[in-house]
Amino acid sequence: MDSLQAYFAGTWRDGSGPRYTTLYPADGSVVAELSACTSEDVDLTIRAAAAAQPAWAAKKAHERALVLYRMAELIRQESESLARLQTLDNGKPLSETRALVASAAGTLQYFAAAIETFSETITPQRGDALTLSRYEALGVVAAITPWNSPIASEAQKIAPALAAGNAIVVKPAEITPRLAIELARIALAAGLPSGLLSVLPGKGSVVGEALVRHPLVRRVAFTGGTTVGRGIARLAAEKFMPVSLELGGKSPTIVCPDADLTQAVAGILWGIFSSSGESCIAGSRCFIHQSVYAEVKTALVKGAEHLRVGDPMAANTHLGPLVSDSHRNSVERYVALGLAEGGQLLCGGQRLHSDSGGYYYAPTIFEGLANTARLCREEVFGPVLVLIPYADDDELIAACNDNDYGLAAGIWTADYRRALALGSALHTGTVWVNTYKQFSISTPFGGMKDSGLGREKGQASLAEYMTQKSYYLGLSHAPNPWAN
Ligand code: NAD
Repeated sequence: MDSLQAYFAGTWRDGSGPRYTTLYPADGSVVAELSACTSEDVDLTIRAAAAAQPAWAAKKAHERALVLYRMAELIRQESESLARLQTLDNGKPLSETRALVASAAGTLQYFAAAIETFSETITPQRGDALTLSRYEALGVVAAITPWNSPIASEAQKIAPALAAGNAIVVKPAEITPRLAIELARIALAAGLPSGLLSVLPGKGSVVGEALVRHPLVRRVAFTGGTTVGRGIARLAAEKFMPVSLELGGKSPTIVCPDADLTQAVAGILWGIFSSSGESCIAGSRCFIHQSVYAEVKTALVKGAEHLRVGDPMAANTHLGPLVSDSHRNSVERYVALGLAEGGQLLCGGQRLHSDSGGYYYAPTIFEGLANTARLCREEVFGPVLVLIPYADDDELIAACNDNDYGLAAGIWTADYRRALALGSALHTGTVWVNTYKQFSISTPFGGMKDSGLGREKGQASLAEYMTQKSYYLGLSHAPNPWAN
């Protein structure tokens, strides 16, 4: 078991709150012990961050970029140990945590390049003044992240925030604090001055809320559940504080009659069952055209039954355990609800490897549920897929959009005109066509409706961590009209 310290107010130290432990989801053993932070720790941290930030913002963009490039390099050098730490934290298979670590390094590199090449503009001159549109850092910003992909979601906030000249305070999920702590260590090793990246592990209702409420915090980047996100938006409104909210999802995947069914089946299995379904973009509602329904159903069930659920450190594992016992209980309640609502279980629906002490759950597929069932409306955040046949595109679009969430959608078809027509009718932030869960740091990501507000990634997201300011540089020597 490792004893962890937080990094805040410019030093490594214990939080002032109670000690707690984190567990390895594959066997339930204690892997780390640390102290939770408190609202007093938040205040101390933010004051230190506010004191450190102006000197960082005053550096030239290419000087700040250099620190981010070094962070990316250090992450790459330590990629294997970082991936293992993340697997210990949340039980995701190593193959996935390796990809998340690589994406974190790519994110730092991308925003380093983005700030180096970020241009301010001379706006078209309409009078006797040179008019400029410039950008300045916000000051101290906060990041609040969930447990499912810590290093990637943290890097997506840390990189643009630091690139833009801010100080950032990160509040990782209580049960997965390790990667944020590692990022603080790496940032210091890369030459980031102290006080600019702080990590405060602890409870959301204590540390998270204190961050959102703090008067010196100028922006919050949040990834997590919709209920918590809504509460953060309310508090932010009081301060007129910008927020980005990356929230939950109930994403549809669509199989058109002309789709390459082999590709579609593989993509749908990956879309819902990778990360054991603990993914905001999990494709959890699968709409299949009735002409191919039986064939696709058979192939999906066969595929799901062949997925290897087990040791997340093993090379050939498809699904690791769920993150915690309580989360597995929640998934089980949804499966029971699906049955009570009249759904038929086609496979799964049970715990696996109970003797391991880990929180394993089988890939589970339902049919026979209307799109209005709670299992089709609410986010399970687990390995549970519902199959729904459809007859025509109008009915399909209405059903896909008849949901509070609007994060992502997948379309499997050979006809790109159809894909674009369907895509423009879907109320989601991302549409994947003949692929699923592909990501690029250069492409914006975010949701519609209850899936959130704002976008992360992409060049435009850098400006979200800055405030725009206009300058008028007077050029005329003529007397001011009131001079006489
Ligand atoms: P959560 O909302 O419970 O917690 C997320 C973070 O918010 C944690 O750090 C938590 O401690 C903190 N928090 C909790 N209460 C708070 C409060 N009152 N004030 C401030 N902060 C508070 O979510 P979770 O269970 O950790 O993660 C799962 C959720 O995250 C799912 O709904 C999933 O869809 C969503 N998610 C969304 C994306 C996306 O990009 N859209 C990505 C990953 C996960």
